[in-house]
Amino acid sequence: QIQQALRALTIPLERLQMMKSHIMQAMHRGMSRQTHAQATVQMLPTYICSTPDGTEKGDFLVVELCQSQVRTLLVTLFGDGNLSPQMIYKIFDMPEEIMHGEGEVLFDFLAQCVSELLADTSSSQERLPLGFVFPFSCQQTKLDRAELISWSKGFSCSDVEGKDVVQLLQSAINKHELCHVDVVALMNDTVGTMMTCSTEGRPCEIALVAGEQGSNCCFMAEAHLVEKAEETSGRMCVNTEWGCFGDDGMLSDILTPYDESVDDESSNPGLKRFEKLVGSLYLGEIVRHVLITLIAQKELFTRSDVAVLKEKGVLKTHQVLEIINNEEGTAAAKRVLEALGLEPRERDCSRVQQICRAVVSRAATLYAAGLAAVLSYMCQTRDLDQLLVNVGVDGELYHSHTRFKEILQNVIKLLAPECTATLLPSTDGSGRGAAMVTAVAVRLEAQRREVNELLAPLRLSRADLEEVQALMRMEMELGLGRETNATASVRMLPTYVCHTPSGTERGEFLALDLGGTNFRVLVVRVSEEGIRMASEIYVIPTAIMQGTGEQLFDHIMECIVTFQLKHDLTKQVLPLGFTFSFPCQQVGLDKALLLTWTKGFSASGCVGQDVVQLLREAAQRKNHSGLKVVALVNDTVGTMMSCGYDDPQCEIGLIVGTGTNACYMEEMRNVGTVEGEQGRMCINMEWGAFGDNGCLDHIFTSFDRVVDEDTINPGKQRFEKLISGMYLGEIVRHILLAMADRQLLFKGNPSPKLQTKNIFQTKFLSTIELNGLALRQIRAILHELELNASFEDSVLMREVCQAVSLRAAQLCAAGLAAVVEKMRENRGLDQLSVTVGVDGTLYKLHPNFSCNLQKTLQDLAPNCTVTFMPSEDGSGKGAALVAAVASQTARPGEQP
Ligand code: ADP
Ligand code: MG
Repeated sequence: QIQQALRALTIPLERLQMMKSHIMQAMHRGMSRQTHAQATVQMLPTYICSTPDGTEKGDFLVVELCQSQVRTLLVTLFGDGNLSPQMIYKIFDMPEEIMHGEGEVLFDFLAQCVSELLADTSSSQERLPLGFVFPFSCQQTKLDRAELISWSKGFSCSDVEGKDVVQLLQSAINKHELCHVDVVALMNDTVGTMMTCSTEGRPCEIALVAGEQGSNCCFMAEAHLVEKAEETSGRMCVNTEWGCFGDDGMLSDILTPYDESVDDESSNPGLKRFEKLVGSLYLGEIVRHVLITLIAQKELFTRSDVAVLKEKGVLKTHQVLEIINNEEGTAAAKRVLEALGLEPRERDCSRVQQICRAVVSRAATLYAAGLAAVLSYMCQTRDLDQLLVNVGVDGELYHSHTRFKEILQNVIKLLAPECTATLLPSTDGSGRGAAMVTAVAVRLEAQRREVNELLAPLRLSRADLEEVQALMRMEMELGLGRETNATASVRMLPTYVCHTPSGTERGEFLALDLGGTNFRVLVVRVSEEGIRMASEIYVIPTAIMQGTGEQLFDHIMECIVTFQLKHDLTKQVLPLGFTFSFPCQQVGLDKALLLTWTKGFSASGCVGQDVVQLLREAAQRKNHSGLKVVALVNDTVGTMMSCGYDDPQCEIGLIVGTGTNACYMEEMRNVGTVEGEQGRMCINMEWGAFGDNGCLDHIFTSFDRVVDEDTINPGKQRFEKLISGMYLGEIVRHILLAMADRQLLFKGNPSPKLQTKNIFQTKFLSTIELNGLALRQIRAILHELELNASFEDSVLMREVCQAVSLRAAQLCAAGLAAVVEKMRENRGLDQLSVTVGVDGTLYKLHPNFSCNLQKTLQDLAPNCTVTFMPSEDGSGKGAALVAAVASQTARPGEQP
């Protein structure tokens, strides 16, 4: 029968594994907005978003409301890794009548305690931050805002439930003329345990409390998973309140009749089932019920009067812990049992010892299952193969019993083999820990202020954007005007493309695409079945981009010849459309003078020349006669045309790739630089140069200026340098350097690699801004940059990336708003419906850019319904379509 009882108290490994996964499911339910109301494991947000990093410094106050005491504490931290905090305690007895009196009196009493502590100490600090340990059930909505849901632990003060207890304490403190005391954080005792175990460089991210107050666990969760709280960035400590696990019956198959008896006799039957298996309030009770059963079965104490064991609470947990002690255990058992008036024999003592061991071991394995669930949950949600983490542990079970520790460690290893948890003993989690929570809150507050200050110039208001829109509109008018064009920063170049495609274009064409990351040659067939293309990418070495014009165009010709050979095109002379994405003064469809190089090109002898002619001359140098250039096309125009082939409403082209630019269909009567009043012409805005005349100087930040000065065209393409892929990574890099400089990032030490120009690529923004910061791709980036970034560093990096990419999208939207509003006015419409054909990797691959662009545009131009259509290979297809339109119109007898 003894064996049977012991077996009932032993939980097989498979059952523990199952339980671990049930706890994980319960955790997921507690975290999710949809299911948390019904969840047994509450997973309460604590609004504590960081652990100590050792730099915390200054004086901090703590007030802790305990069952029969108020503990006050002044902690001084020296910024030395929290190795040697100085602490002054003062403890006050809580008068019974206050516990049941008016709420106001309670808080006055707390303020009085603080005031007495301060009278005995000397802190000259101007502002004294205070942490409030308030271990009651609260609805917390901020670190310093928590409404009491209900009193417990013998308290029942009037007029407090439903109120913000931080506010109540602050008012009482103010009344005591302690105005420099500022209540900044409210917390329970688990988080404190976690905070005291963090040492420099080794954050502690889980705490386990196995003490008189109950058993509980908290850990740092990914904030976006804490759906009850608004925060979405970084991590937040979640208080699991796992004591309620099993209240829905999930534990029924491991509950023994002894557990049922303990539960029946408790003040809250059916509730807190996990707590009642592991909590130190209950272990003595479980043992007592096992003994009662065995006595009834005549297995124990055959010669004593055992009525005394029927009384609740006669066997205390600390006695159980003494009994299981190896050396003196049986002696302790004898002592304890005799004190109860029993007459134990030797055999009784050793049996009682076995039973106590079984009950405590079971508690340890259950704690291990719970911890293993939390560990695996953390490992999974952080997208890690392996989790290395420190666990702070407090409570008498842990401190007084080595076997408990061993079981805990061994079972965790079995249940969560992917996690390595280092258990660290914590002492005075609630007092010192509360001071740490407060200190961390103050550190974060100061850091936040500095970050906001640094990023403020990048954050554009609605008024700023409206102003940019108005300025763009003004520059557009100047660019279109015959007299003003030459000096306008937005050149508004005519393209001689007067129609978007009709869809009836036919034929086979060659196309070139120069002016981006890749140089490509394409063959494009436009037929009834649609458009078919084949293309090859060729590299243009930087030496050639920045060499002589002859070298550049010779290189291009060589690529064309290679392409024609490869694709068997040497016997035909196909009309060629040339997508050339640099600002050109177009004189006709096939005649265009290069105005200036951009985007890293600087080949000599080209500016002012007709680009088509330069290509023809290169063909002559090669004695190549199979080239018939019919049109030179900007990539924006190509993009508009290729989308226009599918959507007749597409009358705008937009590029957000290496650079940025836009084109749109303008009324001929408004184009002062070309003769003729009828119809429309596509205008290549060259908006990248917007601001080159100084009109945007007020929105440039110091970071933008540094980036600009380090380009090959300083002072030029200023709008583009705020928006496009070639520059966003650089802007971010300079901000990161400034933040490290101010000790806000990387502990003030950026890697030498981060000093390297262009090392921070714009594609990193896309990866970093994707949700789920723990992604391994982000770790790969940090690794590549040799950055030793903490988790919080990566949260801040993401904020920087978001600020830069948001500004880019908003500015792009302000530009487009000017365009669509002008088109609407041109056409005398109340409402314009138009499609924008878009190309560019930044637009297409960045996770937020397009959405931010569209949202802002809708806001700035509410009378326009704008649809965005990503183009597929706009430059190639578009050049072919322009060539098609051109060769059609070239045929005699046909209408243009
Ligand atoms: P181009 O504009 O040169 O014709 P793309 O449209 O492909 O070529 O744009 C290339 C630019 O896109 C690069 O300069 C790079 O900065 C940026 N880029 C590349 N990958 C990504 C990405 N995943 N997210 C955001 N930007 C990217
Ligand atoms: Mg391109």
